[in-house]
Amino acid sequence: MDVSQALFERASQLIPGGVNSPVRAFRSVGGTPFFTQSAKGSRLTTVDGRELIDFVCTWGPAIHGHNPPRIHEAIAGALDKGTSFGTPNPYEVEIAELVVDMVPSLEQVRFCNSGTEATMSAIRLARGATGRPLIVKFAGCYHGHVDSLLVKAGSGALTHGHPDSAGIPAAFADQTRVLEYNDPAGLRELFAAEGDRIAGIIVEPYPANCGLILPENNFLETLREVCTEYGAVLIFDEVMTGFRVAAGGVQERSGVTPDLTAMGKIIGGGLPVGAFGGKRELMQQLAPVGPVYQAGTLSGNPLAMAAGIAALKMLRELNPYERLEAMGQKLQTAMLETAREKGLPLQVPQVGSMFAFFFAEEPVTNFPAVMASGAEKFKVLFRKALDQGVYLPPSPYETCFISTAHEDGDIDKAIEILSASLKAI
Ligand SMILES: *Cc1c(COP(=O)(O)O)cnc(C)c1O
Repeated sequence: MDVSQALFERASQLIPGGVNSPVRAFRSVGGTPFFTQSAKGSRLTTVDGRELIDFVCTWGPAIHGHNPPRIHEAIAGALDKGTSFGTPNPYEVEIAELVVDMVPSLEQVRFCNSGTEATMSAIRLARGATGRPLIVKFAGCYHGHVDSLLVKAGSGALTHGHPDSAGIPAAFADQTRVLEYNDPAGLRELFAAEGDRIAGIIVEPYPANCGLILPENNFLETLREVCTEYGAVLIFDEVMTGFRVAAGGVQERSGVTPDLTAMGKIIGGGLPVGAFGGKRELMQQLAPVGPVYQAGTLSGNPLAMAAGIAALKMLRELNPYERLEAMGQKLQTAMLETAREKGLPLQVPQVGSMFAFFFAEEPVTNFPAVMASGAEKFKVLFRKALDQGVYLPPSPYETCFISTAHEDGDIDKAIEILSASLKAI
């Protein structure tokens, strides 16, 4: 038995499923997960001494690759001064200035400790500011493990939501309406029926927690129009896309301006940070100025803020987005070429440094199409790639990430391995 297996057996005795976040358990691809000893640049080193080219990048945060020297130094510098003060600290002001400057729609921002906290607080704020109860979300979009957002479509638009998780009272799920992404007719129908009770829409502007789906026919513009028409709050959940698809996220790329934005992942430079922000008048509804309560013992933690500042400054200085886009396109083109040669039905949606695999004949534009794509084939791709040293996300419903630490040689090597893996399906 290798070291990872032995650790996983011990972990499984003590931690449910052996993991502190479910998808790490490899249940949807089979086998036991490897344990990581250390990570540097584009590579993970497992406790068994294997080196893997990493396209998970700690599920998004590591846009600069693992343990970049500048973030390492920033954390070490902050550590010398103490780990937590429970008072305001200067790093909070500096990162707030950076984030407000980078993200087009932000006038004010509040920091918290995870993406889940950010979306949870954003929907509370939308409800508090409008005095309305309902939140609209889209099937397949993940907004963290917030009770009323852990709801996907049952049989589709205009039905009451069904909880995806046990432990969520129907009364909570009833406050959520689930629509299909890229379906403007369903959206307008729902607002015509219940618009005066809808506090807001929360959306992953590029849904990336069910593979990767991109908007069609100006769907984001339609969301903006409908929210403005009905006085509902448009919330972009840019926990994954923020600072990733452009310095200012999807809102910069698309030119569509949300009222509130939830952020996480990259913003913490690898430490636990979330944030939400938006228009001043909305943000002024938060305690201590307004009536909507939100708080956190470790919010604005100096180590986390220092790491985030370093990560964001590096993005500004390097402006890596064109290079990341080129690497993403190169991977996409090569995978599609291999699939064509082999006659394999494959879609590789890609935007910037994000890409995903769908084993489907047609482009995948909504959640039912995601569910109809060939998850079994992804398992084979995952295992063959891992055997040869490429780590893809251990689920057919996740997005792959490229970092600035991936060199051209990493991409070429990955293309070789992934192509061979696709041919073996
Ligand atoms: C990861 C993610 C979250 C949850 O963030 P956590 O830090 O895991 O709580 C929320 N929304 C989106 C779009 C995400 O990708």
